[in-house]
Amino acid sequence: MLPSPIRETADIIKKLPGIGPRQALRCAFYILRNPAIRQDLKLVLDKIESVKNCSICFRYIHLSPNAADSTCSICRDIERDKNSLCVVEEDVDLEQLEKAGAFGGQYFVLGGRLSLNQDPRALRINELKQRALKDKDLKEIIMAMSPTAEGNAAFLWLKQEILSASDNTAQIKITRLGIGMPSGGEIEYADEETLRGALENRN
Ligand SMILES: [Zn+2]
Repeated sequence: MLPSPIRETADIIKKLPGIGPRQALRCAFYILRNPAIRQDLKLVLDKIESVKNCSICFRYIHLSPNAADSTCSICRDIERDKNSLCVVEEDVDLEQLEKAGAFGGQYFVLGGRLSLNQDPRALRINELKQRALKDKDLKEIIMAMSPTAEGNAAFLWLKQEILSASDNTAQIKITRLGIGMPSGGEIEYADEETLRGALENRN
């Protein structure tokens, strides 16, 4: 019988995505044998507590304990275009679009992949509608969903949700990333050239 701290460590690691029971146990032993890894893990686990969501776009940001402002550098940047909002599913998509440098507007992070199996209530659909309702500068919402069958269905559904929210939101132009994105490809893995093209060709 393995000592319970090893089993308990393996049980936690097993909960991580893509990790099976055997791998989890191997990781637990690795952690046990490596004091330096244990030390680093303790440090980052403490630090990760100070990662919060930006109160405007909901992307993850690292806040210092006495930060007065819980907004991110993009939302605070007065140089950026206030009329267009790019809706991404996850933080990695936003990072990828920023790296491509083709978009100078605002962002909104839904917080998960839109799919037919996903309960939309788990995503920030209501928060997005609120943003569309309250943000009077908003003229265009660009949906940056991956061009998969599910992404297409999700786009049409989300577009309807926003347009039907109020008379004001009905005036907002709602587009999505255009051709250029490989069909079935994901934004997370798209190169910068492709993303710039997809933004230019939004429709
Ligand atoms: Zn922000």
